[in-house]
Amino acid sequence: MSANTMQLVIHSSYFIAALLFIVGLQRMSSPVTARNGILWAGAGMVLATIVTFLYPGMSNFTLMIAAILSGSVIAWVSGKKVEMTDMPQMIALYNGMGGGAAAAIAAIELFGGKDHGLTFAILAILGGFIGAVSFSGSLVAFAKLQGFKNTTLRFPGQQFINLIILIGIAALGAYITIQHSSGNIVSLFFVLALLLGVTMTVPIGGADMPVVISLYNAFTGLAVAFEGFVQQNPAMIIAGTVVGAAGSLLTQLMAKAMNRSLAHVLFSGFGDAATESIEVKGSMKPIDATDVGVMMAFANKVLIVPGYGMAVAQAQHKVWELTQLLIERDVDVKFAIHPVAGRMPGHMNVLLAEAGVPYDIIYDENEINSEFESTDVALIIGANDVVNPVARTDPSSPIYGMPILNADYAKNVIVVKRGQGAGFSGIENALFFLDQTRMLYGDGQEMASELIQSVKSI
Ligand code: NAP
Repeated sequence: MSANTMQLVIHSSYFIAALLFIVGLQRMSSPVTARNGILWAGAGMVLATIVTFLYPGMSNFTLMIAAILSGSVIAWVSGKKVEMTDMPQMIALYNGMGGGAAAAIAAIELFGGKDHGLTFAILAILGGFIGAVSFSGSLVAFAKLQGFKNTTLRFPGQQFINLIILIGIAALGAYITIQHSSGNIVSLFFVLALLLGVTMTVPIGGADMPVVISLYNAFTGLAVAFEGFVQQNPAMIIAGTVVGAAGSLLTQLMAKAMNRSLAHVLFSGFGDAATESIEVKGSMKPIDATDVGVMMAFANKVLIVPGYGMAVAQAQHKVWELTQLLIERDVDVKFAIHPVAGRMPGHMNVLLAEAGVPYDIIYDENEINSEFESTDVALIIGANDVVNPVARTDPSSPIYGMPILNADYAKNVIVVKRGQGAGFSGIENALFFLDQTRMLYGDGQEMASELIQSVKSI
């Protein structure tokens, strides 16, 4: 094959791979087509990887194949084993690897010290910097979420120290760009960038971590796109840009749904599970599953609000079984989903889809909120913060301003949870103390089973 034909094959294949990424992403936007979307994007990645072997000047094939095989085995095994509740830290880890890979590409180019022109050097520096920050920052995020490092380190002048490190990185980056220096200066540049990723992430609280992970995901995309320009590799440019754009949109969406500005997340140092307890008047009134079953079976309308606890209890299948029994009794049952219920965007939708709940009875917060007033029973299963009315009423609350599901407007509210445990924000929930609220204490799956028995026995 002539060199020109080879170039044509490579570039056309990269173009097709990029199209597959975009089609895959488009299909991931709906739960109906999401699984299929992953296959499309995966096919794009396989094609891009195969074509890379044909790239002019490629060598070290044994090393490449060994890396691909070991990476694939590790990803396959960990992907199969990971619990749904541990997904955010898994994403943080994989995301960090992407950033690290982009930084490694930049490091190889920069250590070479060759003069490929100003644009080349600037892009390599930018990609290396963002990739390294994203790598170490994502690893810290992983460690925090995995519970390796729960404490959040904050001290006066922290942001000033970060600024000094940033200025140092900028100065070194400019020096390397102009002088084409290699060796120790480049090493110092990367050490400082890695350090900044750590010092930037360490003060951010656990509650904000998923937003930070999403931000680093966008950073990784950007770093890969920059390195794509350096490598003259269109697949990297397109994939990086797509990841960068998708990550930025997701970050914005999550910050909005939690009512946190990005600047707040990154610089305010809040976001830890709050320790302050908001005083709530009244008491929590328990109820048993038999009574709840009767209440639901004779209701006209039931709204089910799932939250993180449903994921922990893996109660989605039982909840769907209960829903079917109620529908058979002509009860109007719908699911109300908050955008940040659970621990990642779409968490509840994924679980309900896995259990086979049809999409036409699953509603987003803005579609369903007006229906709580006409609801006989709001069944809150493992949700807490996303139904806490203090978000509407108490300006001193850490979740003040966060849009919530209006469960407190329902005629009867049943809350399924194991005990007095707080939600992610760590604060008391005023909903649990309302006159129309009853607490059904127990594990989400066990309680759903008892409700099924109760409805069946009527
Ligand atoms: P949540 O506020 O974290 O509350 C979950 C509740 O589930 C807890 O109060 C817990 O009470 C209960 N629970 C735990 N295990 C259970 C089990 N086995 N059976 C029954 N109940 C169980 O959950 P949420 O209402 O879904 O709110 C999500 C929170 O995560 C929000 O604060 C949101 O801002 C935050 N967040 C979400 C995302 C996202 O993208 N989804 C990202 C970042 C942060 P007990 O211990 O008493 O059982």
